[in-house]
Amino acid sequence: MTATRFSSGYVGRFAPSPTGRLHFGSLVAAVGSYLEAHAHGGRWLLRMEDVDAPRTVAGAAEQILRQLSAFGFEWDGPVMTQSGRLDFYREALEALRAHGLVFPCACSRKEMADSTDSLLARDGSRRYPGTCRPGLPSGREPRAWRFCAPAGELAWLDGVQGEQVEDVARDVGDFILLRADGQFAYQLAVVVDDAAQGVTHVVRGADLLDSTGRQIALLQALGKTVPHYAHLPVASNAQGEKLSKQTLARALDVERPEWFLWQALQFLGQEPPAALQQVTLPVLWQWARENWSLARVPSRRAQHVDTDAGL
Ligand code: GLU
Repeated sequence: MTATRFSSGYVGRFAPSPTGRLHFGSLVAAVGSYLEAHAHGGRWLLRMEDVDAPRTVAGAAEQILRQLSAFGFEWDGPVMTQSGRLDFYREALEALRAHGLVFPCACSRKEMADSTDSLLARDGSRRYPGTCRPGLPSGREPRAWRFCAPAGELAWLDGVQGEQVEDVARDVGDFILLRADGQFAYQLAVVVDDAAQGVTHVVRGADLLDSTGRQIALLQALGKTVPHYAHLPVASNAQGEKLSKQTLARALDVERPEWFLWQALQFLGQEPPAALQQVTLPVLWQWARENWSLARVPSRRAQHVDTDAGL
């Protein structure tokens, strides 16, 4: 952990969900956020996003830490773990409730699916039709808590993908902050934690671009500073599917970190010289730190990788 390099107020972070081991897609997000933080003389924090308890896999967080260490990443300060922060999420929900910005919702998934009012949201999921926003229908029990999505367009400049505009009320609708199973939603946890950690710059995969409008709306409602966002292309396989546990992405091989790092730099448009495929991990990191440029990252949402080559 190098203490000398913090010459700025930049705070970046990497926030994996411990649902399995890291794969090439996660490495891309780790490398991009890490190098961008270094380029700004900033701090790079690590957060285990295990807020979704049913999806969390025992031992995965430890495996991720081992993988990151084997790849030569150095994070600043202690690792934040969401499962230990439920009181803060409750507090944020309570603050929103005090301002009348959340409401209890009785709708089941089936009722929503059957509703003719519910249009599709931008990410293809069903948009909440607003049934319970005026008040719970009589005799119904609350299941979840939803955020009153603000009407109107939000605009922001993404560091890689450029100008973004989203109307959260129209494109997503009132979204869930506390689920029917009692779990806090990722959208709430991520903004509470980014604010608590003082994150100034979020660099992550473009699969989360469609979550950004929701997160900005929530941060504004909570009176928190909105960080800068930069969304890196997501690694996809030949079928165009995002590399993930569901698409059986290979775990990063800790025996060959240099090979994977070189591939991640290439994926991120940094054009590492071929000769650097023969060098040691510290030498490759040094080149990466000296040559990193966010401007060279392709402004695409997704980019294919050759999974047959071992990625
Ligand atoms: N935990 C999320 C994931 O692994 C990332 C959240 C974020 O970077 O904002 O997909």
